Amino acid sequence: MAAQETVEHKYVYDFAEGNRELKDLLGGKGANLAEMTNLGLPVPPGFTITTKACRAYLTTGREPDGLAAQIEAHLESLERGMGRRLGDPDDPLLVSVRSGAKFSMPGMMETVLNVGLNDRSVVGLARQAGGSADRAASGDADRFAWDSYRRLIQMFGKTVCEVPGEEFEHALDEAKRAKGTSDDLDLDADDLRGLVDAYKKIFAKHTGREFPQEPREQLDLAIRAVFESWNAERAVLYRRQERIPADLGTAVNVVAMVFGNLGADSGTGVAFTRDPGSGAQGIYGDYLVNAQGEDVVAGIRNTVPLQELERLDKTSYDQLLGIMARLEEHYRDLCDIEFTIERGKLWMLQTRVGKRTAAAAFVIAGQLVDEGLIDLDEALHRVNGAQLAQLMFPRFQVDHEFQPVARGIGASPGAASGTVVFASARAVELAAQGRSVILVRRETNPDDLNGMIAAQGILTSRGGKTSHAAVVARGMGKTCVSGADALEVNVPAKRFTVGDRVVNEGDMVSIDGTTGQVYLGEVPVMPSEVVQYFEGEIDPETTEDPLVRAVHRIMTHADAARRLRVRTNADTGADSARARRFGAEGIGLCRTEHMFLGDRRELVERLILAEGGREREESLAALLPLQRADFVQIFREMDGLPVTVRLIDPPLHEFLPPLEQLAVNVAVAQERGEDVAKEEALLAAVRRMHEENPMLGLRGVRLGLVIPGLFAMQVRAIAEAAVEVARNGGTACPEIMVPLVGAVQELETVRAEAERIIAEVVGDSGVEVLIGTMIEVPRAALTAGQIAEAAEFFSFGTNDLTQMAWGFSRDDVEGAFFWRYLELGIFGISPFESIDADGVGRLIRIAAEEGRAARPGLKLGICGEHGGDPDSVHFFHSVGLDYVSCSPFRVPVARLEAGRAAITTAGSDSR
Ligand code: ADP
Ligand code: MG
Ligand code: MG
Repeated sequence: MAAQETVEHKYVYDFAEGNRELKDLLGGKGANLAEMTNLGLPVPPGFTITTKACRAYLTTGREPDGLAAQIEAHLESLERGMGRRLGDPDDPLLVSVRSGAKFSMPGMMETVLNVGLNDRSVVGLARQAGGSADRAASGDADRFAWDSYRRLIQMFGKTVCEVPGEEFEHALDEAKRAKGTSDDLDLDADDLRGLVDAYKKIFAKHTGREFPQEPREQLDLAIRAVFESWNAERAVLYRRQERIPADLGTAVNVVAMVFGNLGADSGTGVAFTRDPGSGAQGIYGDYLVNAQGEDVVAGIRNTVPLQELERLDKTSYDQLLGIMARLEEHYRDLCDIEFTIERGKLWMLQTRVGKRTAAAAFVIAGQLVDEGLIDLDEALHRVNGAQLAQLMFPRFQVDHEFQPVARGIGASPGAASGTVVFASARAVELAAQGRSVILVRRETNPDDLNGMIAAQGILTSRGGKTSHAAVVARGMGKTCVSGADALEVNVPAKRFTVGDRVVNEGDMVSIDGTTGQVYLGEVPVMPSEVVQYFEGEIDPETTEDPLVRAVHRIMTHADAARRLRVRTNADTGADSARARRFGAEGIGLCRTEHMFLGDRRELVERLILAEGGREREESLAALLPLQRADFVQIFREMDGLPVTVRLIDPPLHEFLPPLEQLAVNVAVAQERGEDVAKEEALLAAVRRMHEENPMLGLRGVRLGLVIPGLFAMQVRAIAEAAVEVARNGGTACPEIMVPLVGAVQELETVRAEAERIIAEVVGDSGVEVLIGTMIEVPRAALTAGQIAEAAEFFSFGTNDLTQMAWGFSRDDVEGAFFWRYLELGIFGISPFESIDADGVGRLIRIAAEEGRAARPGLKLGICGEHGGDPDSVHFFHSVGLDYVSCSPFRVPVARLEAGRAAITTAGSDSR
């Protein structure tokens, strides 16, 4: 690489140079600070160092060429604008150094406030603060300056130099105890000066050096620490959980400090322009008098509701409401903000399109349509299937038996019951044993992330809707109740008390993340109102429930927009009926294996063990009417809609008792001298049929070709059932699906026999029966052009296709090595959860194209579990399939996502 290469990258942008479109480069925080600056809102001046600089730093381990000079130039212009120099001993400019990636990662990375303070400028800061004539005694100003300094050492020590944060907290607690108070506001300037000394000692003990006094060194080290925080363990974990790419890097914002800790006329707060929990219009926020921003976010002190600000400082309050309305209109969405008031002057420190619960996402999208800010396409774009799935979770069925023992804030909805645990590690441990746990903390912090992921729900006694627990839980879609302040949480003792009750680790609690209620014991659950709506139990036209109305409206639009049909996987009449209420437009997979179980097992055993043709035919003849009755029921429920019935698929030994058990039974019976002829025959059959790799053995179409009469009986049952339904005035549309076909000849053989039977049964009843195949063996996908000659439809069996394309069996590998593959990034997500578009997806594309080329109008569908996975639905839409099929409960999700796939809007990022 030539050293004289002088093409210099622009690594630093002034706030006035950026805008909200530049999130990739400036991160979300930087882009939005720039946007607010350009809207003329009161943002303290500053500049943003790009994610590109961060990426360069992280790959090479040093700041890229030119960065230092650009920072210097922007700092100088910031200093000129403010009329102050960084860390000037007489009149210092202080700055904050703030992380900010493209996607918000609340609390995951680092921020350092008050950079530029040192032993000399702290005095200058006090003088500057005490300066104005009508200000209170200089004692207040001193207090403020030393408070700011101790915060710098604490944040800098913790984030830049990895000094354990508790050490500072212990020193602070110690200072408060010495003063006989529990409120840090009671500490005066002298106490804080003492605390600064204590902090410096802690700093020196852990780092082996003095706290750096040179402001520019503080700045450079803080910037570097923010770069590096991108790869902090908790940030990596959070990204994996949220599926945020690992290589984006973070931007760094350097912002002139404004001070919320300057006295009673100062403070700091956070707010939402609508309720992020329910979507209701109104003002939602927390405010903290005489504090710096990190106190609110960390939930360290108890805040007051934002409405209180109206009483405290009406001018700032009114100005804030005006700005919030302006931001909503500008972003056409719910925004959240951070602000600080410095002696009656309002400053905006952050905004972004706010995270919200699933319910709020639907309700707000509906409201914004009503308000004329967005259209229905955009509303559909702004919600997603994962959110809808969450809204279908059951809720607590509370009656007099269960009285809540406490009420906190409904921070993230859902109904969760579980065993109480107090430590992240314990939560992980119990969850690994399959236990459902509720993580209880006074407040969570980023180190609790593993436990939060493992837990069913999170319960905290401190913090509001914007606390760490609340924000992270909402992002994960995990139930959370925060700020249940009736709880006295004692983590070391592993218990909490509420009133006179003591709850120990291991006891059961139930929390309702919608209402904020906390119950002791395990509360029974009931279906959510959204499920009741899908079930037809709530009328969307007359209901008062804003959520149901919004869901109905958006679903209706999705149904009108989508091109993919949605069917269901169902093998009973009851499942079919429910799926139909949920909007299924037919059955894409009716498995027939369950029709061989239960009290029919004996018939099946006889069939498998049959010595000669007679015996086999007798068992088949006995099974025929039973199967026919099953199909009649399903065809009736799906009257007028297509029903794809898959001929028997699993290896036959699955219908026999397990080998070991049988061997033991036979041995015991022989010992006793009993007659074991029958059992011995069974055992011999099981031995004969034993396979090393049953997934790759005698199953699917292979069975049909080996066991005479088996498929024929099923085909006959299907055709006869269809005719019976037709005779009774119904319309059955059966589609017979042959599993595991790899070569057209297999299908042709089955087809020839099936057509003969169908012709014989159907006669002039008008019933039409299609014959098609699953595409689940890679060879079938690769020879789809040939296979299409013998198939009227293809249905992709993506579970088997994934197993066979990758060469691993799901049951064996998910626990064995998937975690490692996810960790290494070989998988972004399990290919069984979301379709592997590059590999398995390529097979699907080939089969779809070549199949349709050979037989125009060939019907294409998918019936693997991917049919209900949002990302996969978008893929199937793009391939041009006719339908997806999924379990009944996923049907609404698939309808919604199919609608979303069909519309294209240039709207905001819905993440
Ligand atoms: P996070 O992304 O974790 O919210 P931020 O960078 O937003 O971190 O900063 C943490 C807190 O510090 C916020 O409450 C913010 O409002 C406050 N803060 C950041 N920069 C400044 C500043 N220049 N002046 C005053 N407060 C600030
Ligand atoms: Mg922030
Ligand atoms: Mg299969």
